[in-house]
Amino acid sequence: MLSWLVIGAGIHGVRIAHSLLVESRVPRESLRLVDPGPEPLARWRHCTENARIRYLRSPSVHHLGVRSHALEEFARENRVPQAFLGGFNRPSRQVFDTHTRHLVEELGLRELHVRAMAQRIERIEGGWRVETDGGSIESRRIVLAIGRTGLAVPPVFQGVMCRNDRVRHLYGDDPIDEAFLGEGSVVIVGLGLGAAECALGLSKSHRGPVTLLARHDLRRAALDVRPGWEDLRKTKRRLHRAPEPSARRSLIDRSRKPGSIPPRTADELLARARGDQLQLRHGTVEAAEILEDGAVQLRLGDGSIERTDRVVLATGFKRSRPGGRLVDDLVAERELPTAPCGYPWLGEDLQWDKGLFVTGALAELALGPQAPNIIGAAMAARRI
Ligand SMILES: Cc1cc2nc3c(=O)[nH]c(=O)nc-3n(C[C@H](O)[C@H](O)[C@H](O)COP(=O)(O)OP(=O)(O)OC[C@H]3O[C@@H](n4cnc5c(N)ncnc54)[C@H](O)[C@@H]3O)c2cc1C
Repeated sequence: MLSWLVIGAGIHGVRIAHSLLVESRVPRESLRLVDPGPEPLARWRHCTENARIRYLRSPSVHHLGVRSHALEEFARENRVPQAFLGGFNRPSRQVFDTHTRHLVEELGLRELHVRAMAQRIERIEGGWRVETDGGSIESRRIVLAIGRTGLAVPPVFQGVMCRNDRVRHLYGDDPIDEAFLGEGSVVIVGLGLGAAECALGLSKSHRGPVTLLARHDLRRAALDVRPGWEDLRKTKRRLHRAPEPSARRSLIDRSRKPGSIPPRTADELLARARGDQLQLRHGTVEAAEILEDGAVQLRLGDGSIERTDRVVLATGFKRSRPGGRLVDDLVAERELPTAPCGYPWLGEDLQWDKGLFVTGALAELALGPQAPNIIGAAMAARRI
């Protein structure tokens, strides 16, 4: 039986494994990470590559190392050009990914990665059994680090998405690449960081017209969470003031800035839209259908029609509890405590049940609005 099994080898799983190996000195042979991706962090790379992220939104001290200036030191030692941007020192995706690759290599995480999907978790004597599509694994403790698992697809697109490959989600399994985009027109629906970066990237590389279609105006904000929430002690104090689950949920939701983008990115979008490479459109899609010639026809709230060859949905992730059946069955069988919003109601050490720990989006009622972000992984590692 293992001592620790981390379910999910994404940003959070890798950061937790780093702390377990280096700070808690857990022996390598008693730790594994299970994830269906070909290597640790494959899902993060896929999403950020699809969105053509150039610079992360978070500052340089948010990374997967254990010392706060590890990323800056790494960039300096390796002379990475244009590694950081602006007052927040936002790391380029290139430096962030090179650093994480280096950590994965240094920690030997590839050898600890079991390529499989966890399908069922059950309590056994002295620990847990995780059934995967590649066999079962037993461990005394497990950490659920599965990220956000459900894509938000506006209902008007659900039908057309099932029937053909003209509409893709930015964070779906498929690439937003040349083979998909072809040379025709593309409409990107949404206006968060992913949508904005994707629109900017395509406005430079794609041969056809690019439109960014959003139902709200540009919302400028350096970070997607109000200040102060990245500090563990401040977060604890604020959360203690909302001890009741529903009040906690509304406090967390009020602390977020959904659909916002950094001011510099907003300026870039406006500058690009003055040329003919990018069009910014305001509107809500009320109906979507595929025409006989294969084009996608969108009817907007003001009655106008937009015809396009491809649609990219940059509409983010569902807000409901991540994990699907894996977590639903676990909650039902173990009668785990949850808030009315369905999210885990956790102990201080992020333990949901004896030896069952939780991080990432699933831990947001205990860690606050930064829980799903990179800094949230460091906060969780400290608590676990
Ligand atoms: C485009 C983009 C840009 C972002 N930029 C920033 C930023 O600049 N700063 C910031 O702080 N945050 C940012 N975020 C938010 C957040 O940091 C990321 O979403 C991050 O990937 C969350 O880490 P995670 O480990 O929870 O999820 P993920 O990185 O998605 O990892 C979850 C892993 O769990 C695996 N998994 C899921 N279910 C199972 C299962 N049943 N069995 C086994 N494995 C499973 C998945 O395959 C995946 O590899 C960004 C998010 C996106 C999408």
